[in-house]
Amino acid sequence: MRRKLIAGNWKMNLGLNESGVLTRKILGKVNPGLLKKTDILICPPFVSLALVSGIIKDSGIKLGAQNLHYEKDGAYTGEISASMLKSAGCEYVIVGHSERRKYFHETNNLVNKKVLQALSNDLKVIVCVGETLQEREDDIFESIITEQTEVALKDIPSEKMIDIVIAYEPVWAIGTGLNAAPEQVSHIHALIGNTAEDIFDKNAADNLRILYGGSVNKDNAKEILSACGVDGALIGGASLKPDDFIFIAEQASDIN
Ligand code: PEP
Repeated sequence: MRRKLIAGNWKMNLGLNESGVLTRKILGKVNPGLLKKTDILICPPFVSLALVSGIIKDSGIKLGAQNLHYEKDGAYTGEISASMLKSAGCEYVIVGHSERRKYFHETNNLVNKKVLQALSNDLKVIVCVGETLQEREDDIFESIITEQTEVALKDIPSEKMIDIVIAYEPVWAIGTGLNAAPEQVSHIHALIGNTAEDIFDKNAADNLRILYGGSVNKDNAKEILSACGVDGALIGGASLKPDDFIFIAEQASDIN
């Protein structure tokens, strides 16, 4: 069985002090037994990474960033490189979140470049894929998700697939309070697993963790996390509430 991963995406919320406060609250609620069974990852804004890294040091909680630039370094004013994230203590980075695809026009090819840069700096990557409401209604969501997955994984050496996590996040479910039904989630997770198997092999697909994201909260987490093929969750809004976030991680741990 794959280890569950509960990841919190804080998005553009919380300044330095508030990030420290939230991190300490999360830390205070995590018991060591929980981390034996489930990975817990928090992804604060860039400016809080180093501070949060210091607070969670040796706790077992993992640190991730929400984005990176696809080049190694250079004249890219305002951007953040993979090695900078590493130096701030990150183990993970989220790539291709739908908010970046929508507001910053990130394409599948750009996502792939970011994935490759992250991997070459030994960062683990959470690649986000998911269809818009229009794409679901037009019944093209399977081909959209297959293409997003195929392009994101292009040119990845198979031995690096162990550092990839995919998050299925239907765009219409993010921050809306709407959820995909468990059977819809399982269907897409199987599609993503089959796509990975077609590109690589069964072993890579068997080891690939696939998260669900989209309005996961303390009330619906158990049902979603119990669905076939769900290896955890990427959580936005509820990750800012320490009680709820840890409660969701405990639900994941109970299912293991
Ligand atoms: C997300 O940002 O990845 C997300 C799933 O947000 P929310 O949980 O708020 O829908």
